[in-house]
Amino acid sequence: MGKIALITGASSGIGKACAEIFAQNGMDIIIAARRHERLIELKSYLEKQYEVRILPIKLDVTDKNAVLESLLNLPDDWSDIEVLINNAGLSKGLEKLQDGKIENWELMIDTNIKGLLYVTKAVLPKMVEKNSGTIVNLSSIAGHETYIGGNVYCATKAAVLQLSKAMRMDVLGKNIRVISIDPGMVETEFSMVRFDQDKEKADKVYENIEPLKPEDIAKAIYFAISAPQHVTIEDMVIMPTQQASALLNIKNYNK
Ligand code: NAP
Repeated sequence: MGKIALITGASSGIGKACAEIFAQNGMDIIIAARRHERLIELKSYLEKQYEVRILPIKLDVTDKNAVLESLLNLPDDWSDIEVLINNAGLSKGLEKLQDGKIENWELMIDTNIKGLLYVTKAVLPKMVEKNSGTIVNLSSIAGHETYIGGNVYCATKAAVLQLSKAMRMDVLGKNIRVISIDPGMVETEFSMVRFDQDKEKADKVYENIEPLKPEDIAKAIYFAISAPQHVTIEDMVIMPTQQASALLNIKNYNK
């Protein structure tokens, strides 16, 4: 496409898979996340493999000042961002609300809602000015329906869904597309993060079921962004075939 994309949360999972498919298709990419060493590795792999330019940025999206400072002061040849993938996000814990940890709630709200807003605030005004751009926000099936212990995570993803709708209204007439991607279960580091690096618990989530792969979501995102600019795919709910709702899947359905 010969365009510049910014992907937040590119050090793992869906964000990393997006970086690969975008690079395959000739896009230059700003890859952002907190784990800088992973970004450096990804840069050297993608640049060698696909002859594209990659700019790694160590960024914590919850740090408002750092987000604005780094994204408003990009080198000139990186400042014309055409595609923003608001992907950085996490869930922490699966406790019922009455047992929940306030610091986990704050981290999810700060990352999934406020972080997405800070990054958007740094990028969107330029898109409006040039009358062109595409924003992809990573929501989830958890934004459509909740489950026991999902409380605050589900609330943040419902907020992302609403923000996508609101953005579409606010940029109407500015030739900007806002796309929501709402996956079901995808096997990434998501569950390791949710369960504080407890591998046994994380592996259990994906046991006896065929979850989505990060590449499945990346392909859908590339499909949506490579549609003609007059076409907005507003919302894609993408589920594993073995999962029918947030809670109902091949492991627990009533045969
Ligand atoms: P993942 O493998 O854990 O990747 C999450 C990414 O977000 C990592 O690159 C992480 O990088 C980054 N991140 C987290 N906090 C950050 C922060 N404060 N600042 C910058 N980057 C941050 O999980 P994933 O499944 O690919 O998740 C990607 C998105 O998809 C999330 O928004 C998630 O809610 C959503 N989603 C996932 C699933 C699923 O089942 N996996 C389903 C629906 C939606 P660093 O740790 O290096 O900063």
